[in-house]
Amino acid sequence: MSLFSPDYTFCAYFHATPSFFRQEGIEVLLLDIDNTLAPYEQPLPDLRLTEWLEALLAEGIQVAFLSNNHGDRVELFNGTLGLPCRYDAHKPLARRAKALFTSLGGTKRTTAFMGDQIFTDVLCAHLSGARAILVPPIWDKRDRGTRFKRWLEKGILRRYYKKNPTAPDVREGNPITEEIRGSLK
Ligand SMILES: [Mg+2]
Repeated sequence: MSLFSPDYTFCAYFHATPSFFRQEGIEVLLLDIDNTLAPYEQPLPDLRLTEWLEALLAEGIQVAFLSNNHGDRVELFNGTLGLPCRYDAHKPLARRAKALFTSLGGTKRTTAFMGDQIFTDVLCAHLSGARAILVPPIWDKRDRGTRFKRWLEKGILRRYYKKNPTAPDVREGNPITEEIRGSLK
């Protein structure tokens, strides 16, 4: 298994259903926030996200946030949800991810981590021993650093889709991006 290659891909977080997690034996799900669940500019969870999280919890799947962003952002976002969370997580370092899923009763075998960045989220998942779920970023930055990172990701994704030709293609983008574009018009 490559450290950088995801185990699963979806084009949006809500495409991953409770039955998918059940089928795959995933009992603990760690979630990145920014660009995975909401764009940076969205301070609070929307109804779709709240309902998706509730559906997972109702299935007995433990859910927690693991973010490199700061406490004020993460605590505001999590305010009404009240889920377990770690901010300033220093991803891709695995220490906080591991501590978080262990505190929820998860093991390497029963935990997955969903995020939008290969070199942060996928790598963190694998360094902690968990499985990695990759989604496309909702609203990508266009600065040089991000463009370079996306260029590096391309080769990894090319190899991934060669091996997994029927997996949902994150290179097609996130449908939430289109919704935001539509609402800006
Ligand atoms: Mg992110």
